Amino acid sequence: MDKLLKDAELIKLLDKVDTELAGERYAKGCAYCFNKLHVGDYPRKPRGVEAWDKRYSFTCSKCRKRNTPPSVRYLGRRVYAGVVVILLSAMMHGPNTKGIGVLRDALGVDLRTLKRWRRWWLEVFVNTPFWKAGRGQFMPVVDELLMPHGLVGKFVADSREGLIKLMFFLAPITTLLTERTDAM
Ligand SMILES: [Zn+2]
Repeated sequence: MDKLLKDAELIKLLDKVDTELAGERYAKGCAYCFNKLHVGDYPRKPRGVEAWDKRYSFTCSKCRKRNTPPSVRYLGRRVYAGVVVILLSAMMHGPNTKGIGVLRDALGVDLRTLKRWRRWWLEVFVNTPFWKAGRGQFMPVVDELLMPHGLVGKFVADSREGLIKLMFFLAPITTLLTERTDAM
């Protein structure tokens, strides 16, 4: 898993996907009034991935509302990159509990943060309309008590391609998370 977080190609590909998601948002115009959008990116350097420095976003030229596209890099307003949140959270339920300590130290994630992430997966994520609508596509069902470990397994997200697919699957929730004020 720690290899994945240092995979320059993965880091580049995730940014490319975010650029495309932002392009789609821009092309559609404002989600509220359909007028033209202006670039209004947020400067955001997520911990765990040094190469990224902004979350793509727009503001409407007419109604001024924020239009933030979904993201495969940022999971809401968390200070860590989405891939870090997912891989470390998944490892808490995996067989490699020794590896998690090493990775946690390397990334500077304290235990309290990690426990907060786990609680979010087990108590908040599994109850989101997004997950309730989407979980039916997985057979056999994903064990919700072992989130997000089960999802990482389904997407074979310990590989570059699988991880990109998982981040893409989760991208719709990142927009909802951004609109809320709770930073994690
Ligand atoms: Zn507008």
